[in-house]
Amino acid sequence: MAFNACFKGSQTGNTYSLDQVIYRDTDGGLLEVEHDMEQLGKRSAAEWKSLFESRCGTHKWPFASGIWGKKEWVLPGIADEDIISLNEGWTNLFFAQRLGAHLGLDDLWVKLCGNSHTGSFKDLGMTVLVSQVNHMRKRGVPIKAVACASTGDTSAALAAYCAAAGIPSVVFLPGNKISVAQLIQPISNGSIVLSLDTDFDGCMKIVQEITEDKSLYLANSMNSLRIEGQKTISFELCQQFAWEVPDVIIIPGGNLGNVSALGRGFDMMLELGLIAKKPRIVVAQAANANPLYLAYKSDYTRFAPVQAQKTEASAIQIGNPVSYARAVKVLKKYSGSVYQVTEEQLSNAAHLADRTGLYCDPHTGVAIGALLQMVEEKAVSRKERVIVVSTAHGLKFSEFKTRYHKQELAGVKAEYANPISECPADTNKVRDILDQRLKNIAL
Ligand SMILES: *Cc1c(COP(=O)(O)O)cnc(C)c1O
Repeated sequence: MAFNACFKGSQTGNTYSLDQVIYRDTDGGLLEVEHDMEQLGKRSAAEWKSLFESRCGTHKWPFASGIWGKKEWVLPGIADEDIISLNEGWTNLFFAQRLGAHLGLDDLWVKLCGNSHTGSFKDLGMTVLVSQVNHMRKRGVPIKAVACASTGDTSAALAAYCAAAGIPSVVFLPGNKISVAQLIQPISNGSIVLSLDTDFDGCMKIVQEITEDKSLYLANSMNSLRIEGQKTISFELCQQFAWEVPDVIIIPGGNLGNVSALGRGFDMMLELGLIAKKPRIVVAQAANANPLYLAYKSDYTRFAPVQAQKTEASAIQIGNPVSYARAVKVLKKYSGSVYQVTEEQLSNAAHLADRTGLYCDPHTGVAIGALLQMVEEKAVSRKERVIVVSTAHGLKFSEFKTRYHKQELAGVKAEYANPISECPADTNKVRDILDQRLKNIAL
């Protein structure tokens, strides 16, 4: 069976080939990838499920990847040998039993999207985008390099996938606003790295101008190919529970591409009959960068970009989210709500969760901070199945975690700080310290 996809303008209905270098429609709206749903619908839900199951753990290229195991639903037209995959997806769904018990929840899970090649969920979308660029270059489309603006994780993913493909990449980073790990990743992978004296929104403006030159391909999530890869998180979440739909999904949001992708994944499964129920979708924002939260408070009647303030959750320090309209559509369809989380709340939430075996980056802290508020407001009940989407690996944010444990985060009282006991090499002194500390273990 031949499955097809193209770019489509949601207002105009205009369609464009995926092999074109284009991001916006004639009316200025973002393009979506449109699948031939009629063709996909010719296979039954049961047939799709069994095909997807059959690819779990396979050695057959490229289907072991969580993304490419769903190839027909993601990017059906690409030849297998054009795909650039680093075996992304199929990340662990962590049963957060102790954290759940602490919060009075029996069925709490954390989807560890940061357990991936470059340490964040950005790999899920980048494998699709870079594969498509590889496919186009092989067919003679004159693309010199792929470029993105980034708060750190997009650039790391772009750099790695481009390096694996042998395609030049260019990344624009806001000066001094990302972690050391995030900065060294694209440097190591050979990207042209430009640190700009501005914030993410400023970098985004420049990359859009630079990529008006069509030989530089834009890799930001304005480019909906990224969303196609990221939406597979929804498929995985259901598949990992034998196709049962969770009740609540909490996801941190900045540019709002990921929540749009989450909704899109559920849309497809509903339309093709793989599931019948909708989850509730909750977006968690940092209070210091909260334009979606403010719009939610006005019932989405008012939206205004904000000047994002500094937040430890640096990947969501975004004041003017590109995918705002897409995200609102998702929130309206999936009984959505939006929470804002302060620096103190996100820091303590991340490190509370660490005490139960997780290793949280600040963005996951934002999502767990929202969960704590929901528990307090009784917006979630004990028996409900709740998923927290963890977007990056904590190892990328060692400075944040180190400063937390030293009580050095400005304005944050670190409730779960775990100071090192400095001690001479003296057995009796060691015993004294252990006696003291073993008496005081809280969580
Ligand atoms: C990109 C990113 C986000 C935000 O995703 P959006 O699609 O911009 O909303 C959240 N957390 C981490 C770690 C990220 O890298």
